[in-house]
This record gives sequence, structure tokens and C-alpha cells, in this order.
Amino acid sequence: MDKIFFAVLLSVFWFSCSIGQSSQNDTLYNSQSFFNETHLLRHLKTLSSDAFEGRRTGANGGIKTKKYIINQFHSLHVLPLGKSYEQSFSFVNQRKEYKAVNVIGVVKGTEQPNTYILISAHYDHEGIKSGNIYNGADDNASGVCALFSFAEYFKDNPPKHSVILAGFDAEELGLQGSKYYVKNPIIPLNKIKVNLNMDMISRSDDNELFAVGTRYNDYLKGIVLNFKSSGNLKLLAGHDGGNLQENWTYSSDHASFYKEKIPFLYFGVVDHKDYHEPTDDFENIQPQFYTEAVNAIISVFKEIDTTIH
Ligand SMILES: [Zn+2]
Repeated sequence: MDKIFFAVLLSVFWFSCSIGQSSQNDTLYNSQSFFNETHLLRHLKTLSSDAFEGRRTGANGGIKTKKYIINQFHSLHVLPLGKSYEQSFSFVNQRKEYKAVNVIGVVKGTEQPNTYILISAHYDHEGIKSGNIYNGADDNASGVCALFSFAEYFKDNPPKHSVILAGFDAEELGLQGSKYYVKNPIIPLNKIKVNLNMDMISRSDDNELFAVGTRYNDYLKGIVLNFKSSGNLKLLAGHDGGNLQENWTYSSDHASFYKEKIPFLYFGVVDHKDYHEPTDDFENIQPQFYTEAVNAIISVFKEIDTTIH
């Protein structure tokens, strides 16, 4: 064979392969992406599958979810914040005693390792009721899987401040995991600069992601208002009692930090028809909105990590 012809043939082949590859990659990543979108969706599909039995606190599905988060943290180089990833506790709700476990990891900061940004998402959901599995894809497998995207992002972009990644248990039973955490914080609470809480971030018919908590903090308000979307997503300040909108200040785990006077932003969407229904399934989330939401939250984090004192 003519070597030059072979080389031309080879380069044409290589060229067409690389075109094929880049168009394939375009479906995996959007140009703004800080993480692998395919991984995000695969985790979400897994955690909201029937195998996880609705992730009820203390039940098989909850324990299985805890193990899944620990495995992901471990493989993504997230270290335990305490002696282990697990912070166990128990509580009584409606005369029933529950055993629960928060999963708490840390990524050390490169410039200010002794001050922290705490990023949280609750991993429990409603479990099985009357034979129906409440898969909770949006509420809140979506937030938990975003923790993994953050960890993926940090592998190439280590944070300046240390970052605590917290998978809280028993949110659905009265914010129990975050309440326990702020009373037993592993590192002193005054070392935490801000809490970013994610709960229901994977679908919105209006492409609206709310950042709640800006009313209490001008610095965070500035960051949210300056956010420029590269896609369809609108990041909106609100739902924190400043107008006639429903007030979400106490609606999820960020409330526990707010009560301790720690600034917070809570990211979430308005309730949808599948909210707390057995139809909150993977098939009903909106992959593009979800990816844009996680990217937006990472952008906000990045701005805070760079500018907060
Ligand atoms: Zn929730």
C-alpha cells in the first residue's frame, strides 16, 4: 500500500471519527458544563428507581441510599468530615422512633482550608405507602446527585474554601438531619460562611429556578442578581417573605442554618403536580433544565468561593 495514500486515508478516517466524537460529546456536555451530564442523569435514574424503595429514613431503601452516597463520595475523593462519613442519630416522630444517618464529606480548600461552605441536599423521601413506591426523583434525588456533580467539578477545580458536602437524612420527617447537624456540627458552626441547599431542582415548566434567602443577605443577593444564564434557565430571587409569594424560608434544611444565623441560599422549584406523589419519577424530570440548574448552582458557588471573606 502507498504510505502517503494510507496516511491520507488514515487522516480522513481520524477526521471523520473526531467529528463523530465531537458531535456525540455535544449531547453529553453543553459548552458551559462544569461536570459530566451523563453521570448526573445516570445517578438520578438509579436513586429514583424502585430498587431504592422511596429512600425512607431507617428503611432498607434509606440505608441503601446512604451506602450509595458514601461509595460515590469515596470514589470522587471526597473525604469524611468526621471519623467516618456517617453521622448517626435517632429521633421520635409521631410516637415512632427512627434511626437516621447523615452522610457528611469534605473537600479541603486550597487557600482557606479552615473556613467552609456547606452544600446540602436531603436524601430521604417518603418510602412505600399503600403499596406505592414514592421514588422522589425531583424531591430530592435531584439535589443528592448534584452533590456528586460538585464533587466531580472539584476534582479539576479544587475550591479555595473547604467545602462540606452534606447528604441529610429525615428532612421529610421535620428537617431532622440538618437540625441534628447544627447541634452537633463536627467543626464549629462559626467556621461555616454559607449554606447552599438544593431540594427539587430538576424540573420547571417555566424554566425557573429560585434562589431563596437573598432577602437576608445583600452580598448573596448581588451574586444571584448578577447571574447570567447561558441557556433557557432563569435564576430568580424570591420566596423568602419579601412579597406575596409563598415563603420558603423554613421549607427545607436551610432553615436549620438560618436559625443559627448562617447565611444561606436555597435552590428549588415551585411545587409541581407530582410533588409528594408516587409519580415523582425519573421520566418526569426535565434533563435540560436539570443540567442548567446544576450548572447555575455551581456558578453561584464559584462566585461565592472567589469573593467571600
Ligand atoms: Zn424535599
